[in-house]
Amino acid sequence: MSSIAAPPRLLVVDDDIGTIRLLSSILKDVGEVFFAASGTDAITMVRDQRPDLILLDAEMPGMDGFAVCAAIKSDPNFADLPILFVTAHTDVEIETTALELGAVDFITKPLSPAIVKARVKTHLALKQRTDELLRLASVDGLTGIANRRTFDTSLDHEWRRACRSKSPVSLLMIDVDYFKRFNDHYGHQAGDECLRAIASTLADISQRPGEVVARYGGEEFAVILPACDRATAMKFAEKLRAGVADLHIPHVASDVSTEVTISIGVASLMLDCVTFGTDHPGWTGPCPTVHTCRDGSMTLIAVADRALYEAKRAGRNRVACAAVMDAASSPAPADA
Ligand code: GH3
Ligand code: MG
Ligand code: MG
Ligand code: MG
Repeated sequence: MSSIAAPPRLLVVDDDIGTIRLLSSILKDVGEVFFAASGTDAITMVRDQRPDLILLDAEMPGMDGFAVCAAIKSDPNFADLPILFVTAHTDVEIETTALELGAVDFITKPLSPAIVKARVKTHLALKQRTDELLRLASVDGLTGIANRRTFDTSLDHEWRRACRSKSPVSLLMIDVDYFKRFNDHYGHQAGDECLRAIASTLADISQRPGEVVARYGGEEFAVILPACDRATAMKFAEKLRAGVADLHIPHVASDVSTEVTISIGVASLMLDCVTFGTDHPGWTGPCPTVHTCRDGSMTLIAVADRALYEAKRAGRNRVACAAVMDAASSPAPADA
């Protein structure tokens, strides 16, 4: 992360040019100020410019501040964006409505420069802290890649998307070979260093949007590959295996190589049931819908785990995909 933080980006929304000018001059030292003169322009600006905070006029012709606030708060991408209402009203009901819609503060006109500045700075600091906490809650402390929690949420999300769009989704389960011996031979700190190097290699290779590389636990990693069929996932897994081999980390205690290697289990779900039928690895039931595939992500993990076990059993330092599941272990429809 850069040590020189970019200045905060502040969006001022007001139909009155005088207020825009005044707020711009009050806030010019606090951050980079840009403005919108209508509610619809404000929505476009939020999407295009991704501000860190909004000062929003309540009364505007057309789309007013309340409608703008409701629209922003209903978009999951911007729901956490701090919105400060600016209004000439001191009416309790209006203030209550604004706060209920998700605004963080309410500033009344005439504007006091000192108060505007202080409140904006307070909310920027709070937002920064919240963002940092959210980031810390989503990454693994040792390796800096996604943690198990992020993995679970992402896999569930991708599974639902696959069900909706009938597009494939693949999952790779990765395990370091003879890692206990690595720790025993080189020490736990060297083991940690090795896990960090593997994690960053996996992350460097997995660059497509939506791909999630996570530490699943211990010396196991998982990679989610959205919109990726089995053949492509197998090739990709091989690329990851080769990438880790290319690190050339010595491992004299390994039975499979003199350097650190990984084994990978691949599971793919291809829900185009017309093309693939229901006999595809990982699925033997009827083509699921969003409604009936509730436990699907657990199934995908189980299949990838079994493939990983297969890769280990076949000698390690390799990629394997799971055999066709039996009907008993495929997920039961949630509404059956
Ligand atoms: P296999 O090839 O069958 O996977 O053998 P393995 O030795 O890798 O398997 P096992 O599951 O027995 O050992 C995993 C080891 O990973 C044991 C544990 O000490 C080590 N490990 C788990 N988490 C960490 C960690 O955060 N840091 C370090 N250094 N080691 C860890
Ligand atoms: Mg106005
Ligand atoms: Mg293991
Ligand atoms: Mg292992």
